[in-house]
Amino acid sequence: MKKCIECGGKTVPVKDQPYLYDECGLDVILHGVTQFKCEQCGEIFVSLPNIENLHRVIGGFICSKRKSLLTPSEIKFLRKDLHLKSKELASVLGLRPETVSRWERGKETIGETQDRLLRSLYMNYAAEKVNSVICHGLVQIFSELPRERKKIKSPKKIELNPSDWLTGRVEVCEA
Ligand SMILES: [Zn+2]
Repeated sequence: MKKCIECGGKTVPVKDQPYLYDECGLDVILHGVTQFKCEQCGEIFVSLPNIENLHRVIGGFICSKRKSLLTPSEIKFLRKDLHLKSKELASVLGLRPETVSRWERGKETIGETQDRLLRSLYMNYAAEKVNSVICHGLVQIFSELPRERKKIKSPKKIELNPSDWLTGRVEVCEA
Protein backbone atom coordinates (compact mmCIF):
# COMPACT_ATOMS: atom_id res chain seq x y z
CA MET A 1 0.00 0.00 0.00
CA LYS A 2 1.34 3.40 -1.01
CA LYS A 3 1.75 6.11 1.59
CA CYS A 4 0.43 9.62 1.04
CA ILE A 5 3.21 11.86 -0.27
CA GLU A 6 1.55 14.85 1.39
CA CYS A 7 1.08 13.61 4.95
CA GLY A 8 2.40 10.03 5.06
CA GLY A 9 -1.09 8.67 5.81
CA LYS A 10 -2.46 5.36 4.63
CA THR A 11 -4.03 5.32 1.16
CA VAL A 12 -6.84 3.15 -0.14
CA PRO A 13 -7.50 2.34 -3.80
CA VAL A 14 -10.51 3.97 -5.45
CA LYS A 15 -11.71 2.06 -8.49
CA ASP A 16 -14.16 2.81 -11.28
CA GLN A 17 -14.04 6.56 -10.79
CA PRO A 18 -13.39 8.63 -13.91
CA TYR A 19 -10.17 10.58 -13.55
CA LEU A 20 -9.90 14.14 -14.83
CA TYR A 21 -6.44 14.38 -16.35
CA ASP A 22 -6.29 18.15 -16.64
CA GLU A 23 -2.56 18.27 -15.92
CA CYS A 24 -2.14 17.97 -19.68
CA GLY A 25 -3.80 21.36 -20.16
CA LEU A 26 -7.04 19.90 -21.55
CA ASP A 27 -10.13 18.45 -19.92
CA VAL A 28 -9.44 14.78 -20.53
CA ILE A 29 -11.51 12.20 -18.67
CA LEU A 30 -9.87 8.81 -18.26
CA HIS A 31 -11.80 5.70 -17.40
CA GLY A 32 -10.19 2.61 -15.90
CA VAL A 33 -7.52 4.41 -13.89
CA THR A 34 -6.93 3.20 -10.33
CA GLN A 35 -6.75 6.14 -7.97
CA PHE A 36 -5.54 6.17 -4.38
CA LYS A 37 -7.11 8.28 -1.72
CA CYS A 38 -5.37 9.26 1.51
CA GLU A 39 -7.51 8.27 4.50
CA GLN A 40 -5.96 11.04 6.54
CA CYS A 41 -5.92 14.16 4.35
CA GLY A 42 -8.17 13.11 1.47
CA GLU A 43 -5.56 13.77 -1.23
CA ILE A 44 -6.07 11.75 -4.43
CA PHE A 45 -3.11 10.10 -6.15
CA VAL A 46 -2.88 8.33 -9.42
CA SER A 47 -0.15 6.54 -11.27
CA LEU A 48 -0.62 6.53 -15.01
CA PRO A 49 1.19 3.87 -16.99
CA ASN A 50 2.87 5.03 -20.19
CA ILE A 51 2.15 8.76 -20.23
CA GLU A 52 3.89 9.10 -23.58
CA ASN A 53 1.41 6.70 -25.16
CA LEU A 54 -1.48 8.49 -23.48
CA HIS A 55 -0.32 11.83 -24.86
CA ARG A 56 -0.05 10.35 -28.35
CA VAL A 57 -3.66 9.14 -28.09
CA ILE A 58 -4.88 12.54 -26.89
CA GLY A 59 -2.94 14.17 -29.73
CA GLY A 60 -4.48 11.74 -32.24
CA PHE A 61 -7.91 12.51 -30.87
CA ILE A 62 -7.36 16.24 -31.31
CA CYS A 63 -6.06 15.76 -34.86
CA SER A 64 -9.14 13.69 -35.76
CA LYS A 65 -11.74 16.23 -34.72
CA ARG A 66 -13.65 17.67 -37.62
CA LYS A 67 -16.14 20.26 -36.50
CA SER A 68 -13.86 23.02 -35.40
CA LEU A 69 -10.43 24.49 -35.74
CA LEU A 70 -7.79 23.67 -33.14
CA THR A 71 -8.34 25.61 -29.92
CA PRO A 72 -5.58 27.54 -28.14
CA SER A 73 -5.08 24.78 -25.55
CA GLU A 74 -5.09 22.06 -28.22
CA ILE A 75 -2.42 23.91 -30.19
CA LYS A 76 -0.37 24.20 -27.01
CA PHE A 77 -0.81 20.50 -26.25
CA LEU A 78 0.34 19.45 -29.74
CA ARG A 79 3.28 21.83 -29.63
CA LYS A 80 4.44 20.59 -26.24
CA ASP A 81 4.14 16.97 -27.33
CA LEU A 82 6.27 17.87 -30.36
CA HIS A 83 8.84 19.19 -27.85
CA LEU A 84 8.97 22.55 -29.60
CA LYS A 85 8.98 26.07 -28.22
CA SER A 86 6.36 28.35 -29.74
CA LYS A 87 8.98 30.20 -31.80
CA GLU A 88 10.39 26.90 -33.02
CA LEU A 89 6.97 25.66 -34.14
CA ALA A 90 6.36 29.02 -35.86
CA SER A 91 9.60 28.55 -37.74
CA VAL A 92 8.69 24.96 -38.73
CA LEU A 93 5.35 26.19 -40.06
CA GLY A 94 6.97 29.10 -41.89
CA LEU A 95 5.22 31.74 -39.79
CA ARG A 96 6.28 34.88 -37.97
CA PRO A 97 7.98 34.05 -34.63
CA GLU A 98 5.10 35.41 -32.51
CA THR A 99 2.24 33.72 -34.41
CA VAL A 100 2.04 30.43 -32.50
CA SER A 101 2.19 32.18 -29.17
CA ARG A 102 -0.66 34.45 -30.32
CA TRP A 103 -2.75 31.38 -31.25
CA GLU A 104 -2.11 29.87 -27.84
CA ARG A 105 -3.15 33.06 -26.06
CA GLY A 106 -6.27 33.37 -28.19
CA LYS A 107 -5.07 36.64 -29.72
CA GLU A 108 -5.22 35.25 -33.23
CA THR A 109 -7.16 32.37 -34.79
CA ILE A 110 -5.32 29.59 -36.56
CA GLY A 111 -6.16 29.41 -40.28
CA GLU A 112 -7.59 26.37 -42.07
CA THR A 113 -4.33 25.62 -43.87
CA GLN A 114 -2.22 26.03 -40.76
CA ASP A 115 -4.65 23.90 -38.77
CA ARG A 116 -4.31 21.04 -41.25
CA LEU A 117 -0.56 21.47 -41.53
CA LEU A 118 -0.10 21.33 -37.76
CA ARG A 119 -2.26 18.20 -37.53
CA SER A 120 -0.31 16.55 -40.34
CA LEU A 121 2.98 17.46 -38.74
CA TYR A 122 1.84 16.02 -35.43
CA MET A 123 0.47 12.78 -36.90
CA ASN A 124 3.63 12.27 -38.89
CA TYR A 125 5.70 12.78 -35.74
CA ALA A 126 3.48 10.36 -33.82
CA ALA A 127 3.77 7.71 -36.53
CA GLU A 128 7.55 8.09 -36.57
CA LYS A 129 7.67 7.68 -32.79
CA VAL A 130 5.60 4.56 -32.45
CA ASN A 131 6.13 3.25 -35.95
CA SER A 132 2.46 2.53 -36.28
CA VAL A 133 -0.74 4.30 -37.21
CA ILE A 134 -2.64 5.98 -34.40
CA CYS A 135 -5.18 7.90 -36.40
CA HIS A 136 -6.45 6.37 -39.60
CA GLY A 137 -7.54 8.31 -42.61
CA LEU A 138 -6.25 11.83 -42.02
CA VAL A 139 -6.58 12.48 -45.76
CA GLN A 140 -10.19 11.34 -45.61
CA ILE A 141 -10.93 13.49 -42.57
CA PHE A 142 -9.43 16.52 -44.31
CA SER A 143 -11.30 15.82 -47.51
CA GLU A 144 -14.62 15.90 -45.66
CA LEU A 145 -13.98 19.27 -44.04
CA PRO A 146 -15.67 22.40 -45.30
CA ARG A 147 -13.23 24.92 -46.71
CA GLU A 148 -13.70 27.13 -43.69
CA ARG A 149 -14.67 26.23 -40.15
CA LYS A 150 -15.38 28.51 -37.24
CA LYS A 151 -13.54 28.49 -33.98
CA ILE A 152 -15.66 27.35 -31.07
CA LYS A 153 -15.83 28.78 -27.57
CA SER A 154 -16.15 25.69 -25.42
CA PRO A 155 -14.92 22.46 -26.95
CA LYS A 156 -16.30 19.11 -25.82
CA LYS A 157 -14.32 17.18 -23.22
CA ILE A 158 -12.14 14.36 -24.46
CA GLU A 159 -13.30 11.11 -22.91
CA LEU A 160 -11.03 8.07 -23.21
CA ASN A 161 -11.71 4.45 -22.35
CA PRO A 162 -8.93 1.98 -21.57
CA SER A 163 -9.41 0.54 -25.07
CA ASP A 164 -8.25 3.92 -26.40
CA TRP A 165 -5.57 5.09 -24.06
CA LEU A 166 -3.96 1.74 -23.29
CA THR A 167 -3.87 0.44 -26.85
CA GLY A 168 -2.87 3.71 -28.46
CA ARG A 169 -5.55 3.55 -31.13
CA VAL A 170 -8.00 6.35 -31.73
CA GLU A 171 -11.30 5.50 -33.28
CA VAL A 172 -12.41 8.22 -35.65
CA CYS A 173 -14.03 10.86 -33.51
CA GLU A 174 -16.98 13.02 -34.41
CA ALA A 175 -15.95 16.05 -32.40
ZN1 LIG B 1 -2.47 12.47 3.12
